[in-house]
Amino acid sequence: MKIKRNPTREVRIGSIAIGNNHAIAVQSMCATKTQDIEATVAQVKQLQAANAGVVRIAVDSKKDARALAEIRQQTDANLSVDLQENYRLVEMVAPHVDKVRYNPGHLYHHERDKPWQDKVKYITDIAAENNCAMRVGVNAGSVDPEAQDKYSKEDSISPMLDSAQDHCELLDKIGFDQYCVSLKDSDPNKVIDVYKRFATQNPEIPLHLGVTEAGMPPEGIIKTRIAFEQLIGRGIGDTIRVSLTLPNPQKHEEVQAGFNILDDIEHGRVRSVVVFDPNKLNIISCPSCSRVENEAFVELAQEVKKMTEYAKNHAITIAVMGCRVNGPGETDDADLGLWCGPNYVNLKKGEEKIGAYKYDEIIPILQGELDKLIQAKA
Ligand code: SF4
Repeated sequence: MKIKRNPTREVRIGSIAIGNNHAIAVQSMCATKTQDIEATVAQVKQLQAANAGVVRIAVDSKKDARALAEIRQQTDANLSVDLQENYRLVEMVAPHVDKVRYNPGHLYHHERDKPWQDKVKYITDIAAENNCAMRVGVNAGSVDPEAQDKYSKEDSISPMLDSAQDHCELLDKIGFDQYCVSLKDSDPNKVIDVYKRFATQNPEIPLHLGVTEAGMPPEGIIKTRIAFEQLIGRGIGDTIRVSLTLPNPQKHEEVQAGFNILDDIEHGRVRSVVVFDPNKLNIISCPSCSRVENEAFVELAQEVKKMTEYAKNHAITIAVMGCRVNGPGETDDADLGLWCGPNYVNLKKGEEKIGAYKYDEIIPILQGELDKLIQAKA
């Protein structure tokens, strides 16, 4: 089946290009500590061997940035870097990567009096000087507050669209066109909706598709597949990532899952999809990255999945996140949320904090809260 793709413009990322009918690139991200150069280089190579077109690395500090410079010396992979609040690090990282991702919702934390437009101009100028592509990476769990305030709490799609649109308009005004956009949510149905609406308004902008915090296989792959079939089948999407919670030695399975989904869509093998049922238990968990504060995170996510098996027919969402950077915000919408610190796991019920517990204590406490919730819903 030949899929007719949207006529997006070409964006070069190191040795590959996305958009303009280039093959859909499959990406992944390192979950090793960036400062552990040996482990990170090994993981870059592991992902590259699985044919990842771009490998992303998180950089949160000057030490991470210095490690990145050394990692660059040891690999020819196309590297992308994830900037968070400390956007000024772009100056240190851009010379060593092919692409820079920033999240509009994270530009508010530092230098609060400075307009976000100035910060984007700063990032863009440095990206352009260093021949880097960019991704405007909007995420439902961290939408910029100004865009959020204009809409009701129930409407999570419109603030994401507004935020992406404002940033694209600014980049167009600056005259920088080597960018793509992502609009990720953990709910595949919202992902379908938000990307369809954005692509209708902006058919020329290349899109990076992803369902964020999709969780563990096989559910994480199923959620992602549901969204990708609907979008790629309509010509939407130029690069993809399947975000899965996996132990480090299996991280390349994200890339394999991406290629499998693309192959199935191309060959019309799309009707075997298990329907993602919003009336059942939904575990969302982040794919982990170098910000994970305790290696026990992946095991914890697996234990949560096992322990909650008995509740599989209840419409309850449990979120398990690996760090304090995105964990607190991205667990707000879940019925029960866990985000991991170095020694403690923080447990939340919606936006309310219940407490912080040791890794070997949390499972029975979570089970108690889950039972209470099931009773309350009944
Ligand atoms: S929640 Fe934290 S550890 Fe998990 S992927 Fe996001 S930034 Fe990385």
